Amino acid sequence: MWDLIIIGAGPAGITASVYAVRKRMNVLVITKDIGGQAAWSGDIENYTGYQFITGPELAIKFEEHMRKYNIQLKENEEVKEIIRKNNEIFVNTNRSAYQTKTAIIASGKRSKELSVPGEEEFKNRGLTYCATCDGPLFAEKDVAVIGGGNSALDATLQLINIARHIYLINVTAELGGDAVMKDKVTNNAKVSILNNTKVTAIIGDRMVTAIKIKKQNKEETLAVQGIFVEIGLIPNSEFTKELERNENGEIKVNSYNETNIAGIFAAGDVTNIPEKQIIIAAGEGAKAALSAFRYLATHK
Ligand SMILES: Cc1cc2nc3c(=O)[nH]c(=O)nc-3n(C[C@H](O)[C@H](O)[C@H](O)COP(=O)(O)OP(=O)(O)OC[C@H]3O[C@@H](n4cnc5c(N)ncnc54)[C@H](O)[C@@H]3O)c2cc1C
Repeated sequence: MWDLIIIGAGPAGITASVYAVRKRMNVLVITKDIGGQAAWSGDIENYTGYQFITGPELAIKFEEHMRKYNIQLKENEEVKEIIRKNNEIFVNTNRSAYQTKTAIIASGKRSKELSVPGEEEFKNRGLTYCATCDGPLFAEKDVAVIGGGNSALDATLQLINIARHIYLINVTAELGGDAVMKDKVTNNAKVSILNNTKVTAIIGDRMVTAIKIKKQNKEETLAVQGIFVEIGLIPNSEFTKELERNENGEIKVNSYNETNIAGIFAAGDVTNIPEKQIIIAAGEGAKAALSAFRYLATHK
């Protein structure tokens, strides 16, 4: 029986684990990976204390901090269910089953899929959801980035230094996102911005060779060797069926990170807190751990 099980090791889960262990809680972290979305980010210029750091570098710093405390960790393990029964919380994974007095869900978000013909077939064969991880594979190639918000801008900026040409395919009339990033993308000769444009299919043989797009009922095929899907994120909350979620699937929490079930807390991007940022997820993780500590101190 653990005092606390933390689900996820992104900024929220890792920070929660550090706070919990420093409160001498008997804590276990169960996670699919370490670093979460922070490890996919390109350049980070808004995490206080680092004027500039890359996502993978910051994720390594987070991991080192967690490992310093020898926190019990189950890596490459996926939580499938969390339920509360008879005052105990049961966490079931693809490998095992655990019991705990409290839990923090910090399972973040994952990329949305395009749902067009060819997407399944060409996943990891030229089509990817992570510019930081896979960008270097497309040196001097023509690529398409799909999306029009911060994730798409971030991916485009990373690819400017790698690819030959980038088509930024955006379904709305104008790009959204951060003004500074937008200026950098708009003013770069390597980038063609295609607004009001929809992707209709991914084409290839062994690997991606082209993308089919549609603008005002006119279909066109662009020859590209790489496709980066950056159309937003969805919360990893499917395993939390007993918890109250909002219309976007985000777990509802109050300012103490409490969910509707006693002893189960949630933090970071998987919750309905406004603004999804590393520093915010980390702060929410810290707060959730302190709430779990207080819960244990005040409940039998
Ligand atoms: C491309 C990109 C660029 C970004 N750039 C910035 C930036 O410059 N500055 C900034 O502040 N923010 C940035 N962000 C946002 C930031 O990365 C997120 O807000 C932050 O990582 C959220 O942290 P989190 O811990 O809540 O969730 P996540 O980082 O999503 O971590 C979730 C963790 O949970 C694990 N997990 C998920 N489901 C399960 C399961 N069922 N069982 C077990 N484990 C599970 C995952 O493996 C992961 O370890 C960026 C995001 C993206 C995608």
